[in-house]
Amino acid sequence: MKDSGRVPMPLRDPALRRGDFQEVSLGYGPQEARREAARCLKCKNRPCVDGCPVGIDIPGFIARIAEGDDDGAFETLSRYTALPAVCGRVCPQEKQCEQRCVRGIKGEPVAIGHLERYAADTWQRKNYPAAAEIGWNGHRVAVVGAGPSGISAAGELARMGYQVTVFEALHAPGGVLTYGIPEFRLPKAVVRREVEALEKLGVEIACNIVIGRTITVDELFEDGYEAVYIGSGAGLPRFMGIPGEGLNGVLSANEYLTRVNLMGAWREDSATPVLRGHRVAVVGGGNVAMDAARSALRLGAQEVAIVYRRGMEELPARLEEVRHAEEEGIRFHTLCAPLEILGDKGWVRGLRCVRMQLGEPDESGRRGFSRIEGSEFEMPVDTVIMAIGTDPNPLLPRRTQGLETDSRGRIIADENGLTRKGRVWAGGDAVTGAATVILAMGAGKAAAVDIDRALQGGKTP
Ligand code: FAD
Ligand code: SF4
Ligand code: SF4
Repeated sequence: MKDSGRVPMPLRDPALRRGDFQEVSLGYGPQEARREAARCLKCKNRPCVDGCPVGIDIPGFIARIAEGDDDGAFETLSRYTALPAVCGRVCPQEKQCEQRCVRGIKGEPVAIGHLERYAADTWQRKNYPAAAEIGWNGHRVAVVGAGPSGISAAGELARMGYQVTVFEALHAPGGVLTYGIPEFRLPKAVVRREVEALEKLGVEIACNIVIGRTITVDELFEDGYEAVYIGSGAGLPRFMGIPGEGLNGVLSANEYLTRVNLMGAWREDSATPVLRGHRVAVVGGGNVAMDAARSALRLGAQEVAIVYRRGMEELPARLEEVRHAEEEGIRFHTLCAPLEILGDKGWVRGLRCVRMQLGEPDESGRRGFSRIEGSEFEMPVDTVIMAIGTDPNPLLPRRTQGLETDSRGRIIADENGLTRKGRVWAGGDAVTGAATVILAMGAGKAAAVDIDRALQGGKTP
């Protein structure tokens, strides 16, 4: 059958959206969704499903949309993911489900992410999370961290009848979904709805409690919890170790985005303002870098540049975010690495960089890079935001006897999330290092099943 091409996602005008924090993608309406769903070939071998880390029945939910059964589509999705409205928006689909789509061989893959978002948003607009009547099975489990991994584990356990308390260090649940990914990409109302659904399952969320400081893991056991799941993420920013990183005007993307998203620093009257640079350089090429750069633009910067040591092809950020950043006027200095942050009276005045060249691919297929000698140049900037990666925070492992970590501070756990400390499971970024929402959720779900097996011999149906 001749392909009519992918139905484009309606977007806000770049000239308007670069001035505010409202969501950029407007979402499909019913007609657009039915047209896009009709492109699915219902392949018998379902290659797209193999590309999804949680194995969603993709042709199944898309077929429901094509038939006009949006509730059925949402029900199908809900069997595999607790956060379809989130995954539809932020999954790196082009490297996962959509990369395997047969339609992509000769043309564009089916817009699986856009359709997932459509089904979840449509359901959410019509329904409020209802209180679920689940009998308590007599067991209590504590979850550390209210990010996607903790939320997923808690939801799964609550559905099995466990009494679950989630302890969150910050004053709001959601993890990176709340404090990292900006409103223009993932509206906080969407995250709140997902958290509300969790509470309706009977999960208690206790904010402003840092496990390892306020209470220890061993004290949780003394309080009667029989298992602990750690989903504490990887929120410790890395720096480059180049001269000038101590200057005023150098920030980590994590702090910058937390101030903007969680503390509302974009508001003029915010009690926790953030530096509003005029010429901003963001070092890094991932989603975090794109989010920081696009936030800086919305906070009034005249010029914002991404500085990345490899090329455009190698940018690890989601393709959609790169496209949107380009449309909004973010400049890309690729094949370029910072050597020094230049200062004047304690404040940033520029960035000294060197041009890079790509080499041959290594065993993993990733191309190496090297400096081009004599190509140093200066870039005048007043703010530098570092977005070169994060590691797990060492606080919790240091304060928890028996919890072992590797050389990069990641908690060591088996494939089900069981750590080397008895009755303690871990998953998400705390175990893998900075990764993706869907992988963190998958780990939470797998650990919940294993916890149930350990506490009750897996009797829960
Ligand atoms: P987190 O989301 O980090 O949640 C951990 C939670 O634990 C936090 O709320 C933290 O406050 C809490 N916590 C930590 N220590 C303690 C403690 N001792 N006691 C109590 N609570 C504690 N992934 C994608 O798939 N797509 C994207 O587009 C994308 N964009 C991103 C943009 C940004 C800016 C960032 C930072 C990340 C992005 N990611 C993206 C990655 C993704 O968000 C993470 O992989 C995912 O959130 C990991 O989930 P998690 O639950 O393991 O950890
Ligand atoms: Fe694709 Fe992510 Fe949805 Fe899986 S969860 S189908 S990878 S968008
Ligand atoms: Fe549909 Fe693409 Fe999956 Fe085939 S591979 S079933 S066309 S989404």
